[in-house]
Amino acid sequence: MDPREAHDKPLPTPDSDSRAYWEGLKDGRLLLQHCNTCGHVQFYQQALCRKCLGTDLAHRAASGRGTVHSFSVVHRAPGPAFKQDTPYAVLLVELAEGPRMISSLIDADPMSVAFDMPVELVCDSSNADVVLPRFRPVKLAQPHTSLDVQGS
Ligand SMILES: [Zn+2]
Repeated sequence: MDPREAHDKPLPTPDSDSRAYWEGLKDGRLLLQHCNTCGHVQFYQQALCRKCLGTDLAHRAASGRGTVHSFSVVHRAPGPAFKQDTPYAVLLVELAEGPRMISSLIDADPMSVAFDMPVELVCDSSNADVVLPRFRPVKLAQPHTSLDVQGS
């Protein structure tokens, strides 16, 4: 391996099963496969339904909402390409639609992650070649106070 490659992050290689998924992210949509035979919802994309082996599958956009099912905060980079990112949080997100997916935290302190923390999708286009699905904490709406009165 060319030693310079160690400084480049590995990128996904879309195939016939996942091409629509990666294109969807470019449009800001996280596409999940819905089985038209049994109703199963799955991630990642495959040619068959993992529940009934049916082939009648349709892509539908997920809500983008989920919760942190599990996580790990990485302090020691797995390679030079990730050194500047540490510490960062790798998440196992349970999507509102059911499937779980590996992702990472964005727009928040990695040390602030907690189990069951509500998160929402961010389509991260900071890499020129691919849009990556990442998640940030859901900001709870602040309760209104008397200081919010308009026209004062
Ligand atoms: Zn099915």
